[in-house]
Amino acid sequence: MTATVNRTDVTGQMIIAGKPVRGSGPTIHGINPAAGERLEPGFAHGTEPDVEAACAAADEAFAPYRATSSEDRARFLEAIADNIEALGDTLVARACAESGLPQGRITGEVGRTSGQLRLFAGVLRDGGWNGARIDPAQPDRSPLPRADIRQRKIPLGPVAVFGASNFPLAFSVAGGDTASALAAGCPVVVKAHDAHPGTSELVGRAIADAVASTGMPAGTFSLLYGAGPELGTALVKDSRIKAVGFTGSRSGGTALVAAAAGRPEPIPVYAEMSSINPVFLLESALATRGADLGRAFVASLTLGSGQFCTNPGLVIAVDGPGLAAFVSAANAAVAETVPTPMLTPVIAGSYADGVAALEGVATVEARGAESDAPNSCRAALFSSDADTFLGSDVLQQEVFGASSLVVKCRDAEQVRAVAARLEGQLTATVHADEEDLDEAGHLLSVLELKAGRILFDGWPTGVEVGHAMVHGGPYPATSDSRTTSVGSLAIERFLRPVAYQDVPPSLLPTAVADGNPEQLWRRIDGRLTQD
Ligand code: NAP
Repeated sequence: MTATVNRTDVTGQMIIAGKPVRGSGPTIHGINPAAGERLEPGFAHGTEPDVEAACAAADEAFAPYRATSSEDRARFLEAIADNIEALGDTLVARACAESGLPQGRITGEVGRTSGQLRLFAGVLRDGGWNGARIDPAQPDRSPLPRADIRQRKIPLGPVAVFGASNFPLAFSVAGGDTASALAAGCPVVVKAHDAHPGTSELVGRAIADAVASTGMPAGTFSLLYGAGPELGTALVKDSRIKAVGFTGSRSGGTALVAAAAGRPEPIPVYAEMSSINPVFLLESALATRGADLGRAFVASLTLGSGQFCTNPGLVIAVDGPGLAAFVSAANAAVAETVPTPMLTPVIAGSYADGVAALEGVATVEARGAESDAPNSCRAALFSSDADTFLGSDVLQQEVFGASSLVVKCRDAEQVRAVAARLEGQLTATVHADEEDLDEAGHLLSVLELKAGRILFDGWPTGVEVGHAMVHGGPYPATSDSRTTSVGSLAIERFLRPVAYQDVPPSLLPTAVADGNPEQLWRRIDGRLTQD
């Protein structure tokens, strides 16, 4: 497609249906947050005609793209993964410069991104995504005969994806939302995040080149730059877009949900937004290893400057010597932390404001070292008694960064009261010894109503990409708790079931055809079989 653009060049252009397009709106630059420096080149924002062109191309691509076989789409996803890996040091250097994240983290993210794409290639080859079910006709059934009814899943249509700031690769242009939507058979239009425009262009071209080399329709993928409230909203409101994937702030996610709900044809928005990821420390666990838990907690809290949606922002325990040992060790570990750069000046500013707000309502336990470096994150640990926490909305707000609050409870009953008061979460963590398991069982029944993932004796940062993972949860963790944005189940967000009743055999889709030509596992009369 881009005969005039090398794969490793960063040119400042959008990509619409395979073609490089220079925007005509305001120009933004990537910022190296660690150095506070502006990076070249500039990226001119797109405007509504660009949204129109990308959506028209995606709409045109939808019919031929959804008609491709699972095998063809699997090869396409693998070609994207290969192209991203082939960018090598160019991609890693640009992503490090634009995000301030260390090389090891970015290299890991490249692997996670290509790994996700290959995971979905496997999902396509497995064929289970079709959800094939057949209830054969029962013409002699009494009192009424039963029709022949067959069900399979089909893609929703073009999907708009909003790249996340905190995962410049694994949850951005070719991240989990894009991979799962493309796997489902949906063309994708990405709105790049202004925090890493050059990284976005490099990855966008890797996708567009894979579109061309595997013979997919050109409009299967487009990449736009622009301001959220203008270009992003126009994209969500375009009638040809049929679903949205988003990771970011609660305000951004809820604005997009409202925009989608206000369309003449409302569409689903899968927004992953805000979570403070409570950690419950039970009595015996605290008594036997309070100090160790304190140190391990701070390692999780400060990872990546705390810029993880699964960052442990809340610790809940019964007050006593065990919790005192935990807090003392955590305070010492926080005091030793060296400030690290945050992703953007805006995020660093929001973090400083959030910490300042907590200082007004909670006790400051410890702060990390100060720094004159631009956009740096100074870790913070606060504490509060449970009565104050239960009466405060501010204390439940996410502070994106390395800040956490210890809630000290009178007894186990108050721990449960705090659990019951929590908003929806991506994760909830329990540290428990054998002696704590009865209490842990009570908590579990509350926490499963609150969180998408419950983990024992670990830390919530670090999300495995697999088949059983749930990265989701009730509002405000996400806008739709019935699904996940990480792992193979994410494909379900972009599919819908269709039932075919008494459709002539020659017209039936192969997934539900007689003779099972694709050799799928299908549920026939309720029983899973490969017949
Ligand atoms: P953000 O401000 O929500 O932005 C994410 C994307 O959504 C950007 O492309 C943005 O475009 C767009 N957007 C935001 N508001 C919009 C609106 N009203 N209408 C249409 N589009 C809109 O998130 P961020 O820039 O990544 O970080 C800001 C804050 O979000 C952080 O300080 C943190 O509190 C939170 N955050 C949370 C998570 C999490 O996983 N829980 C992850 C990242 C960030 P523009 O940039 O052009 O506005």
